[in-house]
Amino acid sequence: MDFLPLFHKLQDRLVLVVGGGEVALRKARLLADAGARLRVVAPEVRDELRELVGQGAGEVLLRSYQPGDLSGVVLIIAATDDEPLNAQISVQAQSLGIPVNVVDAPKLCSVIFPAIVDRSPLIVAVTSGGDAPVLARLIRAKIETWIPATYGQLAALAKKFRAQVKGLLPDVQQRRVFWEDVFQGQIAESVFAGKLQEGERLLEEKVAGGAPLALGEVYLVGAGPGDPDLLTFRALRLMQQADVVLYDRLVAPAIIELCRRDAERIYVGKQRAEHAVPQEQINQHLVNLAKEGKRVLRLKGGDPFIFGRGGEEIEELAAHGIPFQVVPGITAASGCAAYAGIPLTHRDYAQSVRFVTGHLKNGSCNLPWAEFAAPSQTLVFYMGLVGLPLICQQLIAHGRSASTPAALIQQGTTRNQRVFTGTLANLSELVGQHEVHAPTLVIVGEVVQLRDKLAWFEGAQAQI
Ligand code: SAH
Repeated sequence: MDFLPLFHKLQDRLVLVVGGGEVALRKARLLADAGARLRVVAPEVRDELRELVGQGAGEVLLRSYQPGDLSGVVLIIAATDDEPLNAQISVQAQSLGIPVNVVDAPKLCSVIFPAIVDRSPLIVAVTSGGDAPVLARLIRAKIETWIPATYGQLAALAKKFRAQVKGLLPDVQQRRVFWEDVFQGQIAESVFAGKLQEGERLLEEKVAGGAPLALGEVYLVGAGPGDPDLLTFRALRLMQQADVVLYDRLVAPAIIELCRRDAERIYVGKQRAEHAVPQEQINQHLVNLAKEGKRVLRLKGGDPFIFGRGGEEIEELAAHGIPFQVVPGITAASGCAAYAGIPLTHRDYAQSVRFVTGHLKNGSCNLPWAEFAAPSQTLVFYMGLVGLPLICQQLIAHGRSASTPAALIQQGTTRNQRVFTGTLANLSELVGQHEVHAPTLVIVGEVVQLRDKLAWFEGAQAQI
């Protein structure tokens, strides 16, 4: 180990920054964040840097560096483009035993700046010892995605109770188990979901009773349209901690694979006109599992609140007082549109977009067709494959031009994506000539013609 990571307390301590440019400013910002008082020395100093120093109790000295500038400082940053000067500062600092950092010159440094993930009071620092700073930054970016932004709040909450828990549980092992439970369970989830008071209340209860929390929780999570890359960070985190997963037919196997390995998986899929498990039964299932104390993941294709019956499921949970959270997902319309190169709105072609269910009831579709006839709007039909001939015919009958461009997207965002484009007059016939696999989405409107220019994603098949 070439460097020992230590965290430096700089609150109200004087730090010398030699240099007044962009690089000095960047370092000064970090130092100011850590509460340091800044002494900036340079013949010229950028305005932002001056302002920054002005905000704290620091000083700007508009002149060249002098050795006397080192007096009283606990850390020195040399950020000038004058190499001999940087070297001189380094030697002088080290002879006085003051930590020194010379920007972009690891050999002259006694301390180096890491790449930082700041979830104060939780801080992660990464360094490559100056050998590959870009690599350190990339690793930092990865860590950023693993640690929810609200982790800091969780740490702050723990701080409030730390002394009390220490008094209550003198044994280190017991305390470890206690805190692991807090940081991985329902209390942490409450904080991540922005329910700070709820988290604090649960922690209070846990401290008071030490009893495990009886109720489980349900996560109603949107899994997006198919490509696993389109999951949200929160979706992935909950997928990896749930005890049981209830999933639909629409959720791609590659996404189910990302759930915790040892989680119980329950298929409750629905096919058109053939509900594998009736909705009431799914609702009841969720309630029962949560009452057993399980963390239940209800994974849905796309977004749970768009034609997903998510509302009904959480109504049932709410009625039973079961905690839940809803994680939005990328809905099929957004996913398919993006991957097919069809912007849903466009200054020149569409000022609004409507998501419509094209599901047929008794062979017909009871929809406000006259409203759909207005130009400059995009219509997106979910569940519209069987009803496609009827949809096209009704739109034309109510005044939408027969030459309006229209597209059908099969299994959007996946490797099997295929896009059929035509017009209201011929799309249905065109689709009929091919073997089409569900799920499919229909987009109607002038925006469809932009696909020729904007398509970038190629599924398994050539575009039609
Ligand atoms: N909650 C989902 C929609 C559920 S309704 C969402 O927000 O996307 C089911 C319908 O969604 C399907 O019939 C189909 O019209 C559409 N759909 C879902 N995933 C799709 C995909 N990858 N490609 C095309 N259509 C899709």
